[in-house]
Amino acid sequence: MENKKECRICGYRFTPGKEGGSLAFAKREKDKLWREHAEDEELVGEKKPPEVGWFCAKHYPEAEKCTDMAINDAIELVEFRMEGKAAGNLNPRM
Ligand SMILES: [Zn+2]
Repeated sequence: MENKKECRICGYRFTPGKEGGSLAFAKREKDKLWREHAEDEELVGEKKPPEVGWFCAKHYPEAEKCTDMAINDAIELVEFRMEGKAAGNLNPRM
């Protein structure tokens, strides 16, 4: 069975290793807490850390330039650079 991953930018489903890959971004405070909690419960390796995301071959190179940012900021920046989506258009998604 193929283990397809979904690009965080465009939602494209791809096979890791062939078309894209995962990137780890700067940890936010809540990501650090997640990891502490996960280590307590020995979940590391089973659950994907929140600061890690999958990117298709098209978006991986641009996302890779942003790994010093938090993942949500990086996604927004890549969308802005590559998809022409206005970053910070005062239309909060959450
Ligand atoms: Zn993509």
